[in-house]
Amino acid sequence: MKYVGAHVSTSGGVEFAPLNAKAIGATAFGLFTKNQRQWQAKPLTAQSIEAFKANCTQAGYDASHILPHDSYLINLGHPEEEGLAKSRAAFLDEMQRCQQLGLRYLNFHPGSHLKKITESESLARIAQSINMALDQTSGVTALIENTSGQGSNVGYRFEHLAEIIRQVEDKSRVGVCLDTCHTFTAGYDIQNKNGYEETLRQFDRIVGLKYLKALHLNDSKKGVGSRVDRHESIGKGTLGLEIFGCIMNDARLDNLPLILETPDETLWPEEIKLLLSLRKKK
Ligand code: ZN
Ligand code: MN
Ligand code: MN
Repeated sequence: MKYVGAHVSTSGGVEFAPLNAKAIGATAFGLFTKNQRQWQAKPLTAQSIEAFKANCTQAGYDASHILPHDSYLINLGHPEEEGLAKSRAAFLDEMQRCQQLGLRYLNFHPGSHLKKITESESLARIAQSINMALDQTSGVTALIENTSGQGSNVGYRFEHLAEIIRQVEDKSRVGVCLDTCHTFTAGYDIQNKNGYEETLRQFDRIVGLKYLKALHLNDSKKGVGSRVDRHESIGKGTLGLEIFGCIMNDARLDNLPLILETPDETLWPEEIKLLLSLRKKK
């Protein structure tokens, strides 16, 4: 079974996310549990937490198909102590919010070396940051998202993801979210079935398919290997539709949350229908 949705709005409170997801015909959804462009957030109220859980139950969403995303400000591989400490505190808060909401995952961008330390030093800091957050929480798995490799972001090679996971102590609470736009612009040519299969083979060999827990489904405005992260609506970008047909018919991806982060939210209902229509009748 394929669970498809989009990263929906939480305007008015997290409890509105499952309602917004239901309204677009989604069977999975992504959300921010706080404003993604601010460091500080008010704690979730007991009322909001209860309403979120009740709305998820009523709309039929299980925690395994909900993909919270952390704030864009957080850099767990920060080269400087102050920025690193601030990021680690904010990440812990995000993990705790997910735990309070009964969520299973927290999806995050690994981090950036800001040209002040090496990639491998930044990766080690990210792993240590994950260890610290896992130590102080329970039940929530940290999902590293692969990146386009824009600027000084790490995480654009599968080797980077593997290196972080290697240094995480509790391997049962770390995983990966692959973003199709990021994978492509990082240099993995997944435009056709052969490229898709080869890329998944590489992922399995280097990281391990058992760590793959979620996907972001985005087409791309930019080309393969451009290292530029610009999402496009499904079927309207440089990736094309073939890859999404491969994903929708790949039994290895059954039961994972497949989340759109495409720019035109008015198209989400159509995009979800389009994706589901790519499934071949068995
Ligand atoms: Zn992301
Ligand atoms: Mn993404
Ligand atoms: Mn992106």
